[in-house]
This record gives sequence, structure tokens and C-alpha cells, in this order.
Amino acid sequence: MGSTVKSSSLGYPNIGENREWKKTLEAFWSGKIEEPQFQEEMEAIRLERLRRQQQSGLDLIPVGDFTFYDRVLDTAAMFGIVPQRYGYAGGEVSLSLYFSMARGNASATACEMTKWFNTNYHYIVPELGGAEPALTANLPLQAYREAKQKLGIDGKPVLIGPLTFLKLSKGYAASETDAWLDRLLPLYGQVLAELQAAGAAWAQLDEPVVCGDLAEGDAARLQRIYAELAKAAPELKLIVQTYFDAPDDYKTLTSLPVAAVGLDFVHDRGRNLQAIAEHGFPDGLTLAAGILDGRGIWRADLDAALALVRQLQAAVPAERLLLQPSSSLLHVPVSLSGEAKLDPALQGALAGADEKLAELALLAAAASLDADEQSETVTAGFAASRETLAALNALPERRVAAVRDSVEQHGGKRSERTSAFAERRAEQQERWRLPLLPTTTIGSFPQTAEIRSARAKWRKGTLDEASYETFIREQIQDWISLQEEIGLDVLVHGEFERTDMVEFFGEKLAGFAFTSNGWVQSYGSRCVKPPVIYGDVDFVDPMTVQETVYAQSLTGKPVKGMLTGPITILNWSFVRNDLPRSEVALQIALALRQEVAVLEHAGIGMIQVDEPALREGLPLKKSRWPEELRGAVDAFRLATTGVSDTTQIHTHMCYCEFSDIIDTIRDLDADVISIETSRSHGELIHSFEENTYEKGIGLGVYDIHSPRVPSVSEMVSMIERSLRSLDPELFWINPDCGLKTRGREETAASLRNMVAAAREIRSSK
Ligand code: GLN
Ligand code: ZN
Repeated sequence: MGSTVKSSSLGYPNIGENREWKKTLEAFWSGKIEEPQFQEEMEAIRLERLRRQQQSGLDLIPVGDFTFYDRVLDTAAMFGIVPQRYGYAGGEVSLSLYFSMARGNASATACEMTKWFNTNYHYIVPELGGAEPALTANLPLQAYREAKQKLGIDGKPVLIGPLTFLKLSKGYAASETDAWLDRLLPLYGQVLAELQAAGAAWAQLDEPVVCGDLAEGDAARLQRIYAELAKAAPELKLIVQTYFDAPDDYKTLTSLPVAAVGLDFVHDRGRNLQAIAEHGFPDGLTLAAGILDGRGIWRADLDAALALVRQLQAAVPAERLLLQPSSSLLHVPVSLSGEAKLDPALQGALAGADEKLAELALLAAAASLDADEQSETVTAGFAASRETLAALNALPERRVAAVRDSVEQHGGKRSERTSAFAERRAEQQERWRLPLLPTTTIGSFPQTAEIRSARAKWRKGTLDEASYETFIREQIQDWISLQEEIGLDVLVHGEFERTDMVEFFGEKLAGFAFTSNGWVQSYGSRCVKPPVIYGDVDFVDPMTVQETVYAQSLTGKPVKGMLTGPITILNWSFVRNDLPRSEVALQIALALRQEVAVLEHAGIGMIQVDEPALREGLPLKKSRWPEELRGAVDAFRLATTGVSDTTQIHTHMCYCEFSDIIDTIRDLDADVISIETSRSHGELIHSFEENTYEKGIGLGVYDIHSPRVPSVSEMVSMIERSLRSLDPELFWINPDCGLKTRGREETAASLRNMVAAAREIRSSK
């Protein structure tokens, strides 16, 4: 558009508008296509993303953010950082080695994978300490050249900054940080020098870690890193990019010898603007200002965004201002313009990556001129945007008085069970008379191809409601008798009617909508399509009673009801941005509280409320955790405390580290918690050794992520290890997580061994 205020972006989704990327990857992994075809298809996807960004009028187009799996893994591979177990002997990292690190191979396990800050994206954790790092390939340079040669784009290479890369890596002691910088900085320097020689004008180095808790010495490290990199490529304009919060040390960040600093003005709670007001913004430095939410899927309030830009312009001249999304657009779908099945008022208010880039172009054009000089395109664009948001807000679902009233009534104070745990426990024991070390499972049983196909037919309408229901009942019946035969003490119905633990509830609650194609990458080729919470969340009809009660009717053993908790539903959805998230969590909790009540009323006396995502989405700064966690506990308790003493509330969590949230777990006041253990390699048990836990607890006794059937003795020793620190009277025996990805035979065999292990220990007590 040729505006004075330029636009820039931090990264674009990999997956392609129709998940072409996923399909190509999976075809390659399964051997359906060979490497040349794989490379060809990937190039087409890569160029298509660039073309779309080019067409949007974006000034600084990111290159080098595209990946075959994950950008952190790319960075490790670029520097030859390959763990010893892969037998790597230096040189370029082959495609097969690259994917072995990501996914494991016959002889070596995969590298660890973990959450990218507070998002749902997962990266591969680099393991330092293998071979000496060396530059194996200049990946940003390759990307820069490709964009230039094929599309005439003078791209902005993006890299993971050295401090962030080191902080995300493992395999070294904190005291070795500087020694690792000594090794890595020359390599980074070479990458940047080669980019400069190739004609690149800008390079972005992502340093989101500066928005978290920095260690002593990190400020000095930042100075050293960027002084050295600026020296290596003096003509290249370096952007030190932060996101997901505000840096605590604004002054150090803005005094680095670089061309630009990137700040997030959307997720910073106003702190970046405040810092600028307080300390000013240095002359000569460019501000890359994240003004559009890179993670949400809502159209921006352009007037508010422009007002923010005007405030920034008071401190930074137009020619030193870059407008951009707050973070990479990796976290949003490619486009949401084709969601024809949604209510037009809702559909119009959604923005994927492409729609955000269009908004950015409008904002850059608007910011370049004074209010009275705006072009017709800009004026019309702003007017259309206002109308879109007005239409969204006019939807009656946006504000349901009854929901607002009950949130107000329940919010602000913590809900309590009628009696304390000790009392409830005695009453529950009286009611259930469970044996010592009761055995149970986490909820789901194998979702076979047959089940998936029946559901697909039912959704398409080729299988009628009654036949589908009968089919589900048959599955429940089959597994209830199998569980009885295996000898489990507390049974489950198996969750056969659910594809996904959040989607299932979202489809039954008011306030949710579902896109047809709103996919985002979660890890590797795995994509998720999060539900959209756009209205007030409300209970409509019982959601789980029918299946649970049916299962209970088939057995004399207790059947646990199975619900997904409020924080998990919240964290795995795209959430409206006109209400605080904590308030949306309370709305979900109230709806679940009603479901808990109907289950209890229907005679279900054990109810599990899963919170696998309880600690996801926690802020980058630990000092902000207590407040967040308090809100999470409030929501969980609102959902679960409405029951009588004899009703036993269970919860389940996975994929996490618990040592630092053990007080939160206690505060949930669940009667029984089950936790995944095996992947945290005993660290979890260790954290319970140091902290007593005095409510019911089941530490998963076997890993459900592999088809391997664990032996009785293996599980006996797992249990004995746990019982050294936990009270046997409170200990439960269960697998690590749900069994829906497993096969029937291996599941039955593993559970038989698990029950045998429990019996063996019982008889020795
Ligand atoms: N109840 C769920 C299941 O068994 C729990 C899944 C999870 O923890 N992620 O599938
Ligand atoms: Zn789990």
C-alpha cells in the first residue's frame, strides 16, 4: 500500500488452508510418497503461504518460519545439536534423522516435547551435550533465497534468539550457560552474516523468554548476545522480538545495540505502553508493535487498535514504527472466511491469519495519514469492521441474563463441600466399601475403527439416531462385562460416544460454535480444531446421564461419571475476548455443576471431572500464577462442590509437572485425583515424597502411550515405590490416562495384570 507506517508479521501457519502440510507429512511418514515428491509438495505449500502474505500487502514478510515439524527442532538441527543416541556423526541433518528426533525410531526414543510457553503448540526440546555444535545448514538463508528467487520477496528471516533457544534446551547446568553461548554465538553470527551478504535487510530474533522470569546474569547475557550479533552482521537490521507478555526489564531490552525491538501490546496488560510512557522510547530504535491479537480468532476493534497506534506515534515517529500481530499467526487458522455454516453474524466476526493481515494493511494505511486524510478504502474498511462487531454483539447468545446472574451470585467466593475431606471419606467408605487399593481406569476405552465409522455415518445421517444409540449401548455393555471379568473395582462406561473430550461438551452446551476448517497445529502433524466460545455458556440438557446410567444399570459395581473440567474446556477453546477468561470459566463451571447435579440425582455416586489442561495457559511469569491458579480452583470447586458427602468427586490430570502446583491440587478438594506418572520418570513420585498428600490419589501405574503390556511385577514395584510416600488407605490403582488410543486386546491384558498387581499387594498388607 506504500504507507509510511510499515506492516510486518512474525510468522504464518504451516498447515495450509486445507491441512495440505499434514497430509504431505503423513504420506511421507507412511511411505506413500518418496522424498522428491515430499520436497516438491512442501515447496508448493511454502510458496503458497508466501504468496498469500505478499498479496495482503504486508511489507515485512517472515521467511524461515516454515518447518517440517517444529522451528525449535529446526534450530537444533541447523546447529548440529543431536543427542548421542541417534549415532549422528556431524554434517547436514538428514530428513530421516530430523524426523527420528521428532518421533523416535526403532532404536532411539524421540526427543521430549513440551508446550510452547502458554500456548497449545508443542516444540521439541533440544538436548545439548552431544556433538560439538556446528552450522550444518543455513536454513534462514535458504528460505530467504527461495522467497527472493521464486517470488521476488525480500523476506525478513526469523530465528529463535540465542537466549530463548538456550533456555528451552536441556542437558546442561545453569552454570554452563555462558559456555554454551560461547559455542552458539559464532554460529548465529555466521547465519546472520551470510544473510547480510545475501542482501537481507531485516532479521527477527524471537526472545519471548524475556517476558518470563529471567535469572541473574540474563540481562548481561542479552547485552553480550546482541552486541556480538550486531558486530557479526552490522548492516543487517536486527529485531529482538518478544511476545505473550511484557518484559520486566524494558530498559535493558530497549538499550540493546539492535535496530528494532518487538513488543506485544495485546497480552501485556498495558505494561508496555506504561513502560514507554515512563522511560520513553530511544531515538533511532524502531518499535515493532504487536497490535493485533496473534492468538485469538476475533476481528479486531480497529478503532481501538488505531487509537493505540496513535498513542505509540506520540513516542515513536511513523518511519520507525512497524505494525504487526502480537505473535506468530501459527496459533490461528489460515482463514476463517469460508465458514458458511455459521451464523453470518458470528462468521463475519472471525479472523484467521489472512483476515488479520488484511486488518493490518488497513491499520498501516490509516496510521500513515491523519484522521481527516483517510482514503475511501480505509474509511470503508473501518466502517465494515464496526458493523461486523456490532452484529456479533447483537446476538442474543452474547448475553444471557440468567447466566450473568448466577455467575454474579456464585463468583467472588469459593464454593465449599458440606463437610471436610476426613468426614466425607468415612461416609464414602461406608457407602462403597471398596477394597484397599481400589482399581479403576481414567475413562475412555479403545475407540476402534468400527466406532469411528459408526459416528461418522451418524453425523452424515446415513446411520439413524436409534441405531447409533443401540450401537453405543452395545459397546458399553461389552466393556462393562469385560471390566467385571477383569475384576476392576470402579467401572466406567468408556466414552464411546465422544470424539473429543472438549468438543463433546461444547456441542451440548449453549454459547459454543464449531468451525468446519478452523484447524491449528498442536504438535508435529497433529492439528486441533478448537471450539469457539462466542456466547454465554449455559447448561441446556443433561449431557452424560443417559450413557452413564445405562452403564450403571448393567453392574453392581460403581460406575464413575465422566466430565471435562471448566479450565480444560476453556484452555482448549478459542474464547470470546469481551469477557475476562475467569468469568467464562465460571460460566462453564456453573453449567457443569448442573450436570454433576443431574448425574448425582440419577444415582451416580462417583463423578470424575478431568482437568488435564489445568496448568496450561499459565502466564510466563511465575509471580502471576497464584492469581490464575486461584481462579482455576474457584471454577473447579464451583463445578464439583454441589454434591452430598457420600458422592465421591474424582479428577484426573496429565502431561504435567506437579511439584510447583501441589497446593493448587490440594485446594481442588477432590476426593480422589489420578495423575499421569510414567512420562515424568519418577519425578512426580519424588515430589510427593517431599510433600505429603492427604486425599485419595492414584499415580498411574503404567504408560498408556505404547501398546506394550506391562508385567505384574513391574506394576507391583511401581506401586510399592509410591506406597513408600503415600498412605495405602488413600491410594488408588489406575493406568496413566485414558485408553482410547489403545487396542482392545492389549488393554484387557494390561488391566488384568494391573488388577493382579493390586491383589498381590493387598494380600501382603
Ligand atoms: N477421561 C478422559 C479419557 O479417559 C481423560 C483424557 C485426558 O486426560 N486427556 O480419555
Ligand atoms: Zn490423562
